[in-house]
Amino acid sequence: MQIAMIGLGAMGIGMARNLAKAGYLTQIWNRTSSKAQALAGELNIQAAPSIAELAAQADIIILCVSADNDVLEVINAVLSSIKPNTIVIDCSTVSSETAKIAAQLLASKHAHFLDAPVSGGVEGAKNGTLAMMVGGKQDILDKVIPILETMCARIIYMGSTGSGQGTKAVNQIMAAGINQAVTEALAFAQAEGLPLEKVIEVVSGGAAGNWFLSHRGLSMTQAHYDPGFKLALHHKDLKICQTMAEKNAADLPLVQQTMRDYERLMHAGFGDEDISALYRLKSKPKDR
Ligand code: NAP
Repeated sequence: MQIAMIGLGAMGIGMARNLAKAGYLTQIWNRTSSKAQALAGELNIQAAPSIAELAAQADIIILCVSADNDVLEVINAVLSSIKPNTIVIDCSTVSSETAKIAAQLLASKHAHFLDAPVSGGVEGAKNGTLAMMVGGKQDILDKVIPILETMCARIIYMGSTGSGQGTKAVNQIMAAGINQAVTEALAFAQAEGLPLEKVIEVVSGGAAGNWFLSHRGLSMTQAHYDPGFKLALHHKDLKICQTMAEKNAADLPLVQQTMRDYERLMHAGFGDEDISALYRLKSKPKDR
């Protein structure tokens, strides 16, 4: 079986390494080809010269690229050569609408589509412990479960096409709130002159403990904001959440506030930093 991966960014590279470690990965492609060449050398697999050539051989294609337009660009590029019954699994975070368009385009070539966004950060991608929420046909998901298990600790089938991305939107709204709470609380701790390392250790073990505090708490208080999860990407996700909420006439005040904060940071040139760079707006000037 030929299994290919497209998109070797912060997430995709860890996912590709885990697929390769389990002996599944046969081909990779990345827009910046030097990244694909380097990983192909490391993993001793083929870097495809183009998406079309990769699609001509693949039985399963996994992709993890940035945003809605990027996913549709990749899907359009596979259409000319994709084989019938190929399964395309999109792990990018995009809108449910994009997932539905991608599924329709692939159906016109008798290929299958699963929207399968993930949560768990670059650490989860590296360690193979991602949580994956999947939309599409259950019998298609069942065929690829052993492959996905090399990247994930948890895989949940959510329903028809688009419901994986709908679930990921829920995750992203929560991530915004958690970011606001953790950055604000740690800036408060810092202003109080508390020992931050101990604060993080003890709070992480109690009712307010959470992944973001454990994995980003210390680094943000030391003004390290390497990605991670680029805040410009989270901004893109929150825009998707907002559009979905408008459809249901629902309010997302926390999302609105977080988008405004991210826009300030993006205008100041911090869009490629981890979302924990929100701490810049909450802490005393010396940490900005
Ligand atoms: P990233 O580091 O910025 O990588 C993006 C990848 O997509 C790169 O390989 C990039 O190629 C490729 N790409 C972008 N536009 C493309 C296009 N038009 N055609 C082909 N390839 C294209 O981003 P990431 O952090 O890996 O995130 C990828 C996706 O996973 C996003 O949808 C993000 O929201 C989601 N996600 C991220 C995290 C996280 O913690 N980072 C967690 C869960 C989900 P180049 O190398 O040429 O730039």
